[in-house]
Amino acid sequence: MNQDRWSRQVLIPGFGDEGQLNLSESKVAVLGLGGIGGPAALYLAAAGVGSLILVDRDVVEISNLNRQILFCVKDLGISKAEAAGKRLLSLNPDLKVKIVTRDLAESDMFTLLKDCQFVLDCFDRNTDRLAVNRVCMKLGIPATHGFAQDFSGEIFTAIPGKSACLACTLGENFPELDVTPVMGVTTGLIGTAMAATAILNLTQLGDPAIGERIIYDLAFAEIIKIPIKKNIHCPVCMDVRAES
Ligand SMILES: [Zn+2]
Repeated sequence: MNQDRWSRQVLIPGFGDEGQLNLSESKVAVLGLGGIGGPAALYLAAAGVGSLILVDRDVVEISNLNRQILFCVKDLGISKAEAAGKRLLSLNPDLKVKIVTRDLAESDMFTLLKDCQFVLDCFDRNTDRLAVNRVCMKLGIPATHGFAQDFSGEIFTAIPGKSACLACTLGENFPELDVTPVMGVTTGLIGTAMAATAILNLTQLGDPAIGERIIYDLAFAEIIKIPIKKNIHCPVCMDVRAES
């Protein structure tokens, strides 16, 4: 591998060759390759994460192109996971990719994610996000969940055994829109923040907020952090405690 590729980031204090080695030996899953997952996957591939699992059941549609910057007009009608894999390999041919183009049942997630070091949950339905949360908490894998609407979005990172989980803050009863209005800059920012959280976690650098909702409001140039305490009635956390 041409080490010049990483020359700018190994200069970052504390990162160095060791940080690069940590990334190259890591496997990260990106679940959902839309407006959030696409930029996240691009930055992880560009940073030198060694192995990515790319999951998306949909094909590229024209209405995706305001925000799903992995894709071009030539990808219309093609599987998002397959088009994403090609795009990322053209950026970094040393990357290992596993492509999943079907719907994932929760039991499939256990098999697929079990040897990942980090999971980026870029799905756009809370039922899917809560399923990812259950699986990652049970497997002991850190996960960051992303949300975006209009000009604002948020991320929430859970580390099993250390922080609250997504189910501690997101109940089962939630309103969901059929079609979420959103600007591409919002999903891009959230995907980038999620990729940064994965990179910082994998290299043990910085202090990315764990167990906190981090809300980015682009329309009013605000970042708000809301710490979430473990909910003592959370069935997911209760399960993790019972197992450990
Ligand atoms: Zn919980």
